Amino acid sequence: MLNFDNRFIRELPGDAEPRNQPRQVFGACWSAVTPTPVAAPTLLAHSREVAADLDLDAQAMASPALLEALSGNRLLPGMVGYASCYGGHQFGQWAGQLGDGRAILLGEAVNRRGQRFELQLKGAGPTPYARRADGRAVLRSSVREFLCSEAMHHLGVPTTRALSLVGSGESVIRDMFYDGHPIAEPGAIVCRVAPSFTRFGHFELLAARGEHDLLQRLVDFTIARDFPELTVTPERKLRAWFHEVCARTARLMAHWLRVGFVHGVMNTDNMSILGLTIDYGPYGWIDNFDPGWTPNTTDASSRRYCFARQAEIARWNLERLADALTPLLPKAERSAAVAELAAAIEHYDEVYSAAFCSAFAAKLGLRSWTPADGELLGELFELMHLAEIDMTAFFRQLAQLDIGQADSGVLRDAFYREDLRRQFAPDLARWLARYSARLRHDGQPAAGRIAAMNRANPRFVLRNYLAQQAIERAEQGDTQAIHELLEVLRRPFDEQPGRAAFSARRPDWARHKAGCSTLSCSS
Ligand code: AMP
Ligand code: MG
Repeated sequence: MLNFDNRFIRELPGDAEPRNQPRQVFGACWSAVTPTPVAAPTLLAHSREVAADLDLDAQAMASPALLEALSGNRLLPGMVGYASCYGGHQFGQWAGQLGDGRAILLGEAVNRRGQRFELQLKGAGPTPYARRADGRAVLRSSVREFLCSEAMHHLGVPTTRALSLVGSGESVIRDMFYDGHPIAEPGAIVCRVAPSFTRFGHFELLAARGEHDLLQRLVDFTIARDFPELTVTPERKLRAWFHEVCARTARLMAHWLRVGFVHGVMNTDNMSILGLTIDYGPYGWIDNFDPGWTPNTTDASSRRYCFARQAEIARWNLERLADALTPLLPKAERSAAVAELAAAIEHYDEVYSAAFCSAFAAKLGLRSWTPADGELLGELFELMHLAEIDMTAFFRQLAQLDIGQADSGVLRDAFYREDLRRQFAPDLARWLARYSARLRHDGQPAAGRIAAMNRANPRFVLRNYLAQQAIERAEQGDTQAIHELLEVLRRPFDEQPGRAAFSARRPDWARHKAGCSTLSCSS
């Protein structure tokens, strides 16, 4: 059904200790581990696009053998269970060894076109990296990961994917608000799929431990397997690779900003070496435009991971990766090589600015970008913030503006508060007049501009309250809302008549409700 070619465990050293007990793992990139079986697995949902990537047809997706594999109850031929070893900086502090505590890799599936995908079960039981935790995941966080992975993909944002959402038929105990009220929640397992799940933290841990030979091996392996297009001389490889990681990370940050996504836990163990969005935990989507908003309750006081700081934090994370790679630089020309890593981080700034400007030019319907457009956008952001304007609704509706009239009526639905709408009406009118003048100067015919703006401004994103509603129904055994959301989010830029409910701005009841406005890390 699936063909496996497990390079990671074949080419990199594994842990000699076979027992599945919490420990520090030295001199190895992975530990063999078997998923812990679950009582009564059911396939709650799957992504047909990911299935197609893996050459899994409807019959395969319906087969009991595949369900057994996706629940961790049995491995398919060619699959091997293992967890990888990494560390990370969490909230700015070095945290030492972390590792796949509840994610178990099943190997690397190679499809008929030769594309390679690591498969990973999240919530399939503890691993040697689980510390004292249970290795499981609750349904609510699994629904969020499953839906958001696919929503992001369809929005054009680089991301790990999700093949399946499996209910385990078992319960998991979680104290959601960390306030001494643990309850039993339904458990679930997501099968995540990505060309590579390698994180910045994989390199950081080896560097922190002084395991430089293994660090070099992991770098060589990563470049060979995950960056085959990098063809430079061996002595330049490391720097060229870091340069590429910087560029990809920069583009990812611009993507997050353009769609209004807040990751919520940008620790270096949650940074993908491929520049993918990875580890969907207490993430959220911007409703009313608030640059300082973070969905993560653990981050509520410092707001390290709020919407507007994401590009800055990603840069900080790249600096930590550069620190980890520094011991591998050639000794003879160390200072020149260090300067090159620094230059790559400057390259990050350039790529980020360019990607940000081109994304927002597209969102505003402009064919080019000038410094004056940056000012125009800055004023819009300020206005959207003060007037509590919904980001997704505003940009989507902006295409409907008649630039001869510059009447703000089409933007009425983007406001959360009528009093603020009235208060800021003159400011909005002034902004729209300037914007209309800018569009007239740009000179693009309206039909073309509107079509282009509708390709840049999604009508549908995974609003926090929509995910929460689907979760609450799923917890009652009804997965219909998950399927509906998945279907709508497959075509986020299409108008999809009859589905207005899925594009509605956050209702009042959801403003301060857990799961809709804020989330804890408990998952
Ligand atoms: P995260 O905050 O999701 O990035 O996780 C940080 C670390 O905690 C990673 O090493 C995870 O594998 C581990 N972890 C989180 N939840 C669990 C759990 N329920 N069981 C085992 N390990 C976990
Ligand atoms: Mg993580």
